[in-house]
Amino acid sequence: MAEVIRNRPLAEILADYVVGPPPRAPLKANEHCRHYSYRNTGIRGFMRGDPGGPQCAVGIDNTEPGGTAKCMPPPYCEGRPCGRREEYTEDERAAWKAHVRRAMERSIVAGSAIPREGDSGEVACPACGEGRILWARARINGHLHATCTTPRCFSVMS
Ligand code: SF4
Ligand SMILES: [Zn+2]
Repeated sequence: MAEVIRNRPLAEILADYVVGPPPRAPLKANEHCRHYSYRNTGIRGFMRGDPGGPQCAVGIDNTEPGGTAKCMPPPYCEGRPCGRREEYTEDERAAWKAHVRRAMERSIVAGSAIPREGDSGEVACPACGEGRILWARARINGHLHATCTTPRCFSVMS
């Protein structure tokens, strides 16, 4: 986030924001194999004995300890790459990077609307231009919970 602020002044980011709901996320085209995904079941899944974990869309077991190393490119695969690994395309990777950057900017823009003091409140969301940001700050430790009413727009727990 600091890098985004350093590279682009906040006023420029704010001015650049097109009012509207956030777009759907593109493929998460990171360094993992394109068959890799992670199933996150959260604390509820863990409590009911379903902790989730790494998945492989072509059915190779990557759940053993350290088993996802083979899903990464060298040097992270530790000399044992998976023979079924397939890359995302450069276009897919570029789209994902742009999405991540945009999401960071969205967080900065939306977060800038939350008052620095106070226990709780509701403000218009400057990022999507149509939602309301509901926020609450814990008196005991200052932790902030905030979320925009527009789906996929903005939420934070800090
Ligand atoms: S690298 Fe191999 S094990 Fe990992 S997700 Fe891809 S195909 Fe599955
Ligand atoms: Zn919003």
